[in-house]
Amino acid sequence: MRYLYTNPVTTIVSPCERAIPSSNIDLHYAHCSRNLEKCKICGDMVPRKHAEEHYESTHAPVSGSKGNNKLYIAF
Ligand SMILES: [Zn+2]
Ligand SMILES: [Zn+2]
Repeated sequence: MRYLYTNPVTTIVSPCERAIPSSNIDLHYAHCSRNLEKCKICGDMVPRKHAEEHYESTHAPVSGSKGNNKLYIAF
């Protein structure tokens, strides 16, 4: 677990990189770390559900072997 304290009382940066009041941080941190995942490639915090989507829309190789990302070549 990693908290970044920019101000010991009020401002805590949570996994989603928002400043959260310290009274909410436990709840928020638990929520965030359960739902967010750090992208190994760009380091963004991405919702777990959308990690694949994020990868495919941002980092996927453009070769189009994925099926839903077809490239049509017109002759
Ligand atoms: Zn958060
Ligand atoms: Zn990424």
